[in-house]
Amino acid sequence: MKTSKRIIIVGGVAGGASCAARCRRLDENATITVIDRGPYVSFANCGLPYYVGDVIKDEGKLLVANAALFRDRFNIEVRTKNEVTAIDRTSSEIEIKELETGRVYREPYDALVLAPGAAAVRPPLPGIDLPGIFVLRTIPDSRRIREWIAEKNAQRAIIIGAGFIGLEMAENLVHRGLRVTVVEMLDQVMPPLDPEMAAPVRQQLEKNGVSVALGNGVAGFESGPDGAIVVNTKPGAKHTGDMVILAIGVRPETGLAKTAGLDIGERGGIRVDDQMRTNDTHIWAVGDAVETHDIITGQPTVIPLAGPANRQGRVAADAINGRPTKFRGIQGTAVCGVFGLTVASTGASEKGLRRAGIMDFEKIYLHPGHHVSYFPGAKPINIKLLFRKSDGRVLGAQAIGEAGVERRIDIIATAIQFGGTVFDLEECELCYAPQFGAAKDPVNYAGMIAANHLRGDLPLADWAALEGNGAEIVDVRDADEFAAGHIPGAINLPLNEIRQRLGELPRDREVWLYCGVGQRAYYATRTLLQLGYKVRNLPGGWRTYLDLIAAKP
Ligand code: FAD
Repeated sequence: MKTSKRIIIVGGVAGGASCAARCRRLDENATITVIDRGPYVSFANCGLPYYVGDVIKDEGKLLVANAALFRDRFNIEVRTKNEVTAIDRTSSEIEIKELETGRVYREPYDALVLAPGAAAVRPPLPGIDLPGIFVLRTIPDSRRIREWIAEKNAQRAIIIGAGFIGLEMAENLVHRGLRVTVVEMLDQVMPPLDPEMAAPVRQQLEKNGVSVALGNGVAGFESGPDGAIVVNTKPGAKHTGDMVILAIGVRPETGLAKTAGLDIGERGGIRVDDQMRTNDTHIWAVGDAVETHDIITGQPTVIPLAGPANRQGRVAADAINGRPTKFRGIQGTAVCGVFGLTVASTGASEKGLRRAGIMDFEKIYLHPGHHVSYFPGAKPINIKLLFRKSDGRVLGAQAIGEAGVERRIDIIATAIQFGGTVFDLEECELCYAPQFGAAKDPVNYAGMIAANHLRGDLPLADWAALEGNGAEIVDVRDADEFAAGHIPGAINLPLNEIRQRLGELPRDREVWLYCGVGQRAYYATRTLLQLGYKVRNLPGGWRTYLDLIAAKP
């Protein structure tokens, strides 16, 4: 008689729930049990900031599935409020504590999947345990924050950390009517972005009334007057609020794995192979708890995102069921809304490449409209594309704008998955009608600019070398635009006059051209190159210059 395989999954949210459901789809006979110490499984943690902000009003909407649905639809047993406290690898059993009764019991497994997620970082700073200091990870966390706002009639919130969750919370608390200060240790918001791409995000926060304190590592917390909390920062600043949200990142939940002797990687996540198997052939691990590899740098990485957690859950289920499968690695494709701006990125950032010691790269900036300019409502998208100098392979992209942003990043993310180059981006055939895009889509433009550079048709200058390089800086915008603001030391030679005023340009040194966003400077570059001038183009033009200036600490 065929015995049924006993599959136990620890953690029933993104990685665990998707693994459990796929295991059932692959094996109708398996005994599948999901164990979670929390009161819910399969809840939408990504929706929590919007529940706090009252955008999602009904808590029940956050529950994507519950124990009854798992039982009835998938024949999967879900045990909530049960914590797995130990793994006995010799007997292939786990030890479980039923949290409501304290009862401790054991369950045998044939395959064990660890999907315990990550814990919000709560550094041991003075005053960290004061009431009113919250993290946001679970539905009960969000409920506590909502209750605090209501009970204390909170008016001022301090958010520590300007990453995705910190900024989503800023927007949502402003939506609730609170005055919000974001305190960040780095000199920029949105740490995954490069500083000049993050600068417009900071400006957007400030435009919407959020105070942003950069370069403000937190030193500790203390009680203030009338129940307030004072956040003391290392540079000596004090920020006072009625509540504090700690959003300074997460740490993989590796306690169980460590005590069971499973390998932990150098970035602190559970080490797995490309089938999500740990160093024990009967134990898999998925989601925020694991360390995988970055597909651009090849280095080990821990990136807490729902998409990879779900895919890893499927891969583990396939592997448990003997299917050929492979997790390809992670590229960190992410998106965030900040007061009407969409901020999205995929692959490596410039600082990430430099940190990884990868110097074979080039970058371009562009600011195309999200659809043709003649159709009402076109909004610019600010794009940075990173690509390999030696072969044009796309390495990463960041984009910001009010519309059409995530679509472009998703296209570039797919190109990265397929090992695409800037020459592929030039050729992408994408949807176009006036209200949706352009016959030359922003993605095509990005490819063309980068490919033109690699072919030598559009030599690019490096903004970092702007000062003291000996080049003549030439602004090819019209005189009124130049008068309204220009790069210090630049001369003005409008594009339409350039052929008549060639004598004003030096032949013995480089000429660096710029315009508003790059297009007019490109036309001028082509003309001057063919006339024998040594020309370079400052990518992204005046608009990028302003972002670079705004990013300076
Ligand atoms: P989790 O979803 O954290 O689930 C782990 C579960 O394991 C928990 O329920 C926990 O109770 C349980 N558990 C842990 N240890 C034990 C144990 N010993 N015994 C029993 N149970 C245990 N990602 C995005 O891609 N986009 C977003 O917009 C986004 N927004 C987010 C917003 C917030 C506020 C948060 C907190 C996260 C957000 N994320 C987002 C990240 C995303 O939610 C996570 O990457 C994803 O949920 C990870 O899935 P997981 O299965 O690894 O872990």
